[in-house]
Amino acid sequence: MRRRRRNRVPNTPPRVGEHPIVAVLGRPNVGKSTLFNRIVGRRVSIVEDRPGVTRDRLYADADVGDKRCTLVDMGGFEFDPEGAVETGINQQCRTALEQAALVLFVVDGRVPPTSGDVATADLLRRAGRPSILVVNKVDGARQENDAVDVFSLGIEPVVLVSALHGRGVADLEDLVYARLPESAKIVEEEDEEEGQGAGTDEGEEEAPSGPIKVAIIGRPNAGKSSLINTILGEERLLTLDQPGTTRDAIDSAFERRGRSYVLVDTAGIRRKSRVPLAGPEKLAVTSAVRAIERCHVVVLLLDAGEGVAEQDAKVLGLAVDRGRAAVVALNKWDLVKGDRERQQKLFEATKDVLAFAPWISAAPICALNGNGVDKLFALVDAAYDEFTKRVPTGGLNRLFEEIIDHHPPPMRKGRPVRLYYATQASVRPPTFVVQCSYPESLHFSYRRYVQNKIREAFGFDGTPIRIHFKQRQRKG
Ligand code: GDP
Ligand code: GDP
Repeated sequence: MRRRRRNRVPNTPPRVGEHPIVAVLGRPNVGKSTLFNRIVGRRVSIVEDRPGVTRDRLYADADVGDKRCTLVDMGGFEFDPEGAVETGINQQCRTALEQAALVLFVVDGRVPPTSGDVATADLLRRAGRPSILVVNKVDGARQENDAVDVFSLGIEPVVLVSALHGRGVADLEDLVYARLPESAKIVEEEDEEEGQGAGTDEGEEEAPSGPIKVAIIGRPNAGKSSLINTILGEERLLTLDQPGTTRDAIDSAFERRGRSYVLVDTAGIRRKSRVPLAGPEKLAVTSAVRAIERCHVVVLLLDAGEGVAEQDAKVLGLAVDRGRAAVVALNKWDLVKGDRERQQKLFEATKDVLAFAPWISAAPICALNGNGVDKLFALVDAAYDEFTKRVPTGGLNRLFEEIIDHHPPPMRKGRPVRLYYATQASVRPPTFVVQCSYPESLHFSYRRYVQNKIREAFGFDGTPIRIHFKQRQRKG
């Protein structure tokens, strides 16, 4: 039996698609994180915490009424009024802002606007982005009077809030709602979790067709533009008029060996590459987030001359959290050509840093001359195929019988937690629902064990998989 349900429960896998980006901007300590948490806290559909990966709460989906957006915390970005206005930092900031559908500019209502606030307000006005001035720390009527100075910033509308206590946040949400496009409305979906029982495989997501959407991400100078130029130079460019392809000129569609692809956000990468490379990497992350949001497969480009860094793991972590398939390309392999020892070290360092996702494969390439690019595409294809793969319910349940035999679930109050029935609820990424008693008693180690067993049995190399343990509904 299937039911339609309006609100999605936490942990429901996000779909490939694009939600408008709402950037939260402001000086350090004005309360951005507090506000962020308040807005997403109640309704966030964020993925499970995975121990072992430290990551900033950089972004999260938030539902405002029946519209969904992606809130991006731009962190402690501070506009430097003393610095040259046309530095790369400002340019990168502008690029990041261009991608936002809406900017929440947060200031501290208890102090007069600083020169940094004024400069940021100028920048926002010049950028012409729809913005809301969020005057925070207005905890009561008394602070309202203190906050009058903020009107001089010239950003409208203005809303006075207390992120800490929740005061005014509903008003803010109304303003946000009104400024999000109609396309942000959440499309009602079949509720996958209810779809247990026979015949679940007739799901509406069968046979995903259309091009494979690929995002090429990596730190500045990793070789993203070079790789894109090489790929597009070799291939016949297609006009973007097939269904499922954005018509945006920012993407590049092409065919390669009989398969169709779209490289998402190629325009953004090329534009950015002309910009001086100074500036906070956090802002660069916004572009990556946007590309990740729109793709099926992420290609993380590493510079073999530079090695792998925590930042690479972080951004790949975002992709994995988002449920995207992923492949690593070790670019500039020519720089380590013939140096066995360095190559080995590089592979090992990559493995270490990306240990949270050992199912990701890496291919050495040389973006400049195209060496290795065929192999890279083979990995992209394979990852995509796994990302869209379904396994039969029969085989899945046989595997669960084995799991229960070999490693019974833990006890709860003297009785074992029972696993009743498993189905694959969806693809992109493959998502499983296990009906059980007392899901809260299944600890991380057991969940990981089940996850490893599923991978052992069915593969899924190159794609994250999700397993939701659900309390079995009682009859009646
Ligand atoms: P961020 O650096 O902009 O992300 O700021 P945080 O969210 O970390 O907040 C900085 C400090 O301001 C923390 O101590 C918060 O508890 C405090 N704060 C945030 N919102 C409010 C508020 O609405 N009222 C008051 N009084 N304090 C707040
Ligand atoms: P992006 O910032 O990630 O877009 O990087 P670019 O594509 O602009 O490349 C940065 C620099 O690395 C440029 O000077 C490229 O010529 C160089 N580069 C890119 N790919 C390769 C490669 O495969 N081998 C070598 N040796 N240099 C490369």
